[in-house]
Amino acid sequence: MRLTLYNSLSRKKEVFEPIRDKEVGLYTCGPTVYDYAHVGNLRTYIFEDILKRALLLNDYAVRHVMNITDIGHLTSDSDEGEDKMAKALRREGKPFTLDAMKEVAEFYAAAFKKDLAKLNIIMPDIWCAASEYIKEEVALIQRLEDKGYVYTTSDGVYFNTALFVDYGKLVQTNAADIQSRIQNSEKKNPRDFALLKFNEIGWESPWGKGFPGWHIECSAMSMKHLGEQFDIHCGGIDHIPVHHTNEIAQAEAATGKKFVNFWIHGNLLIAGGKRMGKSEGNLMTLSELGSRGFHPMDYRYLVMTAHYRSPLLFSLEALSAAKSARERLYNVVLKLQKEPRDKTNEVPRANKFTGQFLEAINDDLNTPKALALLWDNIGSVSLKDLLWTDKVMGLGLNKIKEEEAPEDIKRLVEEREVLRRNKKWKETDILRRDLAEKGWIVEDTPEGPRLKRVFL
Ligand code: AMP
Ligand code: ZN
Repeated sequence: MRLTLYNSLSRKKEVFEPIRDKEVGLYTCGPTVYDYAHVGNLRTYIFEDILKRALLLNDYAVRHVMNITDIGHLTSDSDEGEDKMAKALRREGKPFTLDAMKEVAEFYAAAFKKDLAKLNIIMPDIWCAASEYIKEEVALIQRLEDKGYVYTTSDGVYFNTALFVDYGKLVQTNAADIQSRIQNSEKKNPRDFALLKFNEIGWESPWGKGFPGWHIECSAMSMKHLGEQFDIHCGGIDHIPVHHTNEIAQAEAATGKKFVNFWIHGNLLIAGGKRMGKSEGNLMTLSELGSRGFHPMDYRYLVMTAHYRSPLLFSLEALSAAKSARERLYNVVLKLQKEPRDKTNEVPRANKFTGQFLEAINDDLNTPKALALLWDNIGSVSLKDLLWTDKVMGLGLNKIKEEEAPEDIKRLVEEREVLRRNKKWKETDILRRDLAEKGWIVEDTPEGPRLKRVFL
């Protein structure tokens, strides 16, 4: 069975073929580490994880690279405004120095990795922080300068988009319509973008001290680890018009070759009618969901209920429905675990259900269809098959265990129960979150609190 994926470049579903026989090069644009990730960001990382798991299920080896943007990303994705890291330094009352920047970046990068782990996302093979690849970024700008694509203004080094004939092929609109970006009268074309912004605390470069831009970082790091041409590059759809458009321009102008075969983009998480985002003021973090009694897997389940190319509407009601379904699924696993005839974890023999499930996943990662198939077959599915489906879903089904809680956990549950009876909701929620972090989920039932063990 062949895996088909929607390619933003051709705007159609294509049968996936890697450049090298069985090894796939995958680059996923990582976070700008100036704050905690919100669950909108995390939707994109879950979609990318499902994609990676689908590749693995189809027997591809995957070389996965993810960057950490710790410099050069301006507050607007359209290359305007303040540097996001500088903004974080101001917010946290830290001096504007490279050391302080690194400190803030490391803090939020660690928080980000914790969120990924909680969501059972398989970690990339290579993490790369932009500030550690200045040499490669400068070399790529140099290569572009040698080919005549670069000019300098008073505030930075720019890419001349008029010289790259294919500019804008990812958005497939008239290049002139891709509106700008930095409104700087010295720019030759409004859509030209900065490869380096001058700044006296930045790094030395042949053009002066400064910070390499966000787009050049991703191109330099992906080429360094995956080669000048590689298989898949991902991100949210918001990256199509600027970030990825500019990445293609720089990379292809420098090498003269097609940069990436498959550009795959996830649609956005919507809250209150708007894209979830910092400037929209409607964001929610994973730990906020935890303090409201949701397990990270409830959110992962919710994400899978929508196709990755459709917008997903976020609400606590939708999340509660996902939580019920996820709990039901865990209970099915616990029940099947008690059936002695099916305790092995070996690869299942293909059958009608596994065939249909794989077909849904291989049809451009149709997770809503795969979940529907799972529920249609829930009465007859074997534990082996269920665990096999979880290789793609990643709901941690192989980590669930029913076991007696140790004394300290039982004490915490009793403490929480007293608080709950006294209607101390805030404290009750804090204890629920603490218990979840220790791997125990409390469910309040009419018969009293029930405990479930989850290993993640
Ligand atoms: P950033 O840290 O802003 O570069 O964003 C990290 C990732 O999150 C990118 O791949 C974005 O496309 C993605 N992203 C940002 N906002 C949303 C949202 N509301 N829904 C889904 N993905 C998002
Ligand atoms: Zn990127």
